[in-house]
Amino acid sequence: MTDKGTLYIVSAPSGAGKTSLVAALVEKLPRLRISVSHTTRPRREGEVEGVNYHFTSRETFVRMVEEGRFLEHAEVFGNLYGTSADWVAETLRGGEDVILEIDWQGAAQIRHLLPEAASIFILPPCLKTLAQRLRTRASDDDHVIEKRLAGAREEMSHYGEFDYLVVNDNFERALHELAAIVEARRLTTDRQAVRQAATLADLLSGTETQ
Ligand code: 5GP
Repeated sequence: MTDKGTLYIVSAPSGAGKTSLVAALVEKLPRLRISVSHTTRPRREGEVEGVNYHFTSRETFVRMVEEGRFLEHAEVFGNLYGTSADWVAETLRGGEDVILEIDWQGAAQIRHLLPEAASIFILPPCLKTLAQRLRTRASDDDHVIEKRLAGAREEMSHYGEFDYLVVNDNFERALHELAAIVEARRLTTDRQAVRQAATLADLLSGTETQ
């Protein structure tokens, strides 16, 4: 029995719509938080420090790795990304569920460390849509987009390592499927035995109360 939160790993190739879906998911469901990663990637227009990422110098990032501050970390497209170990542990301990939006390398590290984590892979509906979505992102230049398209194929080749697969061909349906995964995990006996403790005590007491 546990009243600890569940850890979700959500991975996808860039352009699959992962960030918008995850943002909509936390709006839709209570007790669900997104972990804000550290990264050495330069901030894109519209991104806010502490909201999208904690933007960090390479020097600081490497020091944090040495201090064991990351639950997982990886290099993606030449930049370093990492998940804060303390924040995740504290939030789960407080009974809230946590979503990590990380790449397949980070997902593999978390799976090894915390096998009870649930992992979800989001796919775009087809390669053409993926390429279009990447090209219409004005924030990256052509060179970066080509690199990301190649990286997307590499990322997608790891879909089989994940527990759940969601295809984002329709935003609302994909959102509904993500919510269904979280809600089903919340109904496992392990979680319900804690949340429904009073109901279970009543049902098994043998004494009728009001
Ligand atoms: P972007 O730079 O487009 O925000 O993210 C690039 C890639 O890095 C995405 O696949 C994203 O999921 C991944 N990423 C973001 N934060 C982390 C993290 O903390 N750890 C790992 N391993 N990957 C991350």
